[in-house]
Amino acid sequence: MTERSIHLLTGAYALDALPAEECQTFVAHLAECDSCATETAELIATAARLALLTERPAPEQLRATVLRAVERTRQLAPVVTTPLAGVVDLDSRRGTRRRWVAAVGGALAAAAAIAGAVFVLGDEGDPVGDVIAAGDARTYSSELPDGGAATLYVSASEEAGVITFSDLPDPGSGQTYQMWLLDADANATPEDTFDPSASGSASVLLEGASEAFSVAITVEPDGGSSAPTSTPLATIALA
Ligand SMILES: [Zn+2]
Repeated sequence: MTERSIHLLTGAYALDALPAEECQTFVAHLAECDSCATETAELIATAARLALLTERPAPEQLRATVLRAVERTRQLAPVVTTPLAGVVDLDSRRGTRRRWVAAVGGALAAAAAIAGAVFVLGDEGDPVGDVIAAGDARTYSSELPDGGAATLYVSASEEAGVITFSDLPDPGSGQTYQMWLLDADANATPEDTFDPSASGSASVLLEGASEAFSVAITVEPDGGSSAPTSTPLATIALA
């Protein structure tokens, strides 16, 4: 691979579409190429947001409402605000409400036409994407001894980290991976357990990682452990 072409792999890496060998080369490149590191972080954040979007199908009822609005709405109705001075007879109030509903229906139809689909976002936000895209996020890369690569993002402003894995092997029957935050004396605080996808990818939110001295990954029995029971596969120092 030429030095020029490796800069073009950010998108494939962000989508976890690189073959193992190229992936390792690219992870090594990320550590020394600021522009690829920045671009990759943005692409991964975008991919994470898209994954969140597509994970939440719109309620069937909303879809039906929007489709009906699309059928009967020719153009956006004006939003009419009628001052409620004095007595308002029921018929005129109903008329106002109908116009308002028509305006909302029109806006929904326009939004649906533009998006081509209806997405519903939860209001809990996107902590993984926020950490990766944070202006102060620092990036660390590590290769794992049994294959796979890890990229760790730590943001002081988000008070959290995110670790993403590619080509991570299955942890084995009855076992799972677990993340740990270590302090300066190597005391380990348990974080989430996880299993990689069929393609070996995973991303784990690490609350409080910005205060940690290092981050470690171990293989633990299913359900996780309160203290590590095996030697870490990798320990990433946040120095
Ligand atoms: Zn580069």
